[in-house]
Amino acid sequence: MNSPVWHPFTQHALEPAMRRIVETDGACLIDDGGARIFDAISSWWVITHGHRHPAIIAAIQAACDRYDQIIFAEYTHEPAEELAHGLLRIAPPGLAHVFYSDSGSTCVEVALKMALGFFHNCGTPRQRICVLEHSYHGDTIGTMSAGERGVFNAAYEPMLFGVDRLPFPQAGHEQDTLDAFERFCASGDVAALLIEPLILGAGGMLIYSQQVLSELKRIAERYGSLLIADEVMTGWGRTGSVFACEQAGVSPDILCTSKGLTGGALPLAATLCTAEIFQAHLSSDRRKTFFHSSSYTANPIACAAAVANLAVWENEPVRERIRELGSMQKRRLARFQADPRFRNVRQIGTITALDLTVPGAGYLADVGPKLRAFFRERQLLIRPLGNIIYMMPPYCVTAAELDCAYDAMDDAAACFMAGRL
Ligand SMILES: *Cc1c(COP(=O)(O)O)cnc(C)c1O
Repeated sequence: MNSPVWHPFTQHALEPAMRRIVETDGACLIDDGGARIFDAISSWWVITHGHRHPAIIAAIQAACDRYDQIIFAEYTHEPAEELAHGLLRIAPPGLAHVFYSDSGSTCVEVALKMALGFFHNCGTPRQRICVLEHSYHGDTIGTMSAGERGVFNAAYEPMLFGVDRLPFPQAGHEQDTLDAFERFCASGDVAALLIEPLILGAGGMLIYSQQVLSELKRIAERYGSLLIADEVMTGWGRTGSVFACEQAGVSPDILCTSKGLTGGALPLAATLCTAEIFQAHLSSDRRKTFFHSSSYTANPIACAAAVANLAVWENEPVRERIRELGSMQKRRLARFQADPRFRNVRQIGTITALDLTVPGAGYLADVGPKLRAFFRERQLLIRPLGNIIYMMPPYCVTAAELDCAYDAMDDAAACFMAGRL
């Protein structure tokens, strides 16, 4: 009731009381009344294998016996070294160096600084950044600048820097996106295209084709521009492959990963880059140093959790689980394919999304909080983006848990159509 805590993305004047969670288990959160809530969005997209995966928790416990935070300039440690080698083994080919940070936003900031620093240090400065319309890259000033402008950042708008926006590659209109990118590149000085590969997350779970991604990469190459893949959400199996870029056969120049990097257990992020970008910062001239750090860079306990996550990917049938989850999702989504109450019924890998047909769509659509309340009453953690309902469950989810969620979507739509939501 009387809490001083200010919660994220929360309008405290309108929201119901926060629900207090006392434990997590598998695909569920357990509240102080003992209720099990199905975490259908993986606690904001971070939990991959399930909450408290035993191998990851054990690795954290073991790391706690040896480490806390260790300064990461001048000093290094085994978990960070091992993780870097492991990441380069599992990432698309061509990436050679790993820079650590602690959140999705910061690893994208690092990527932008690497790209700008690359051209600066090469003596051929370029300042322009291209992005896709509707993209989301984080909530810091730099990543907000790159992301879609709207109600989220209206207050900060005058402080945000300009970027060049490509139209979203809607099916059938892909060429418009490619042409726009080519025009920007041709007019000069495009340092990088910053892009969420194959699916834009917070922008509305918008899926686009692999061909667009590979074509964009080809255009970037032709003009000497870098491709930054923001795999913060798409990484670690969400789209059906470890990284989404793989499906397009694309090796980005810079790859950003966070959310599922530790299986979701602890905050950690990494920005991977090519040897060329690292080399451009390598010099006897100190001014060419990559001037970036955050206090908790490469926290050893978080790195140990990520190493354990890599081992889970190696030792457990994670890829099969993802494939099975994809088909479980597909079978359940099928009932809405020809349902006029929904539009744009879509899926990529383990993620499904559908738009409830409403008169006033958009993120602030009244229907969003109403749907959320409806699901909450059914012990389901589903947070629609306006009228867009999506599922991004942990890979340990059971058929019964999925059934509950899809039945609830059906009932929510029925209530809404009957004016009872
Ligand atoms: C969540 C997200 C971010 C920001 O990550 P944080 O850890 O919340 O800062 C960046 N990019 C994408 C694509 C995301 O989904």
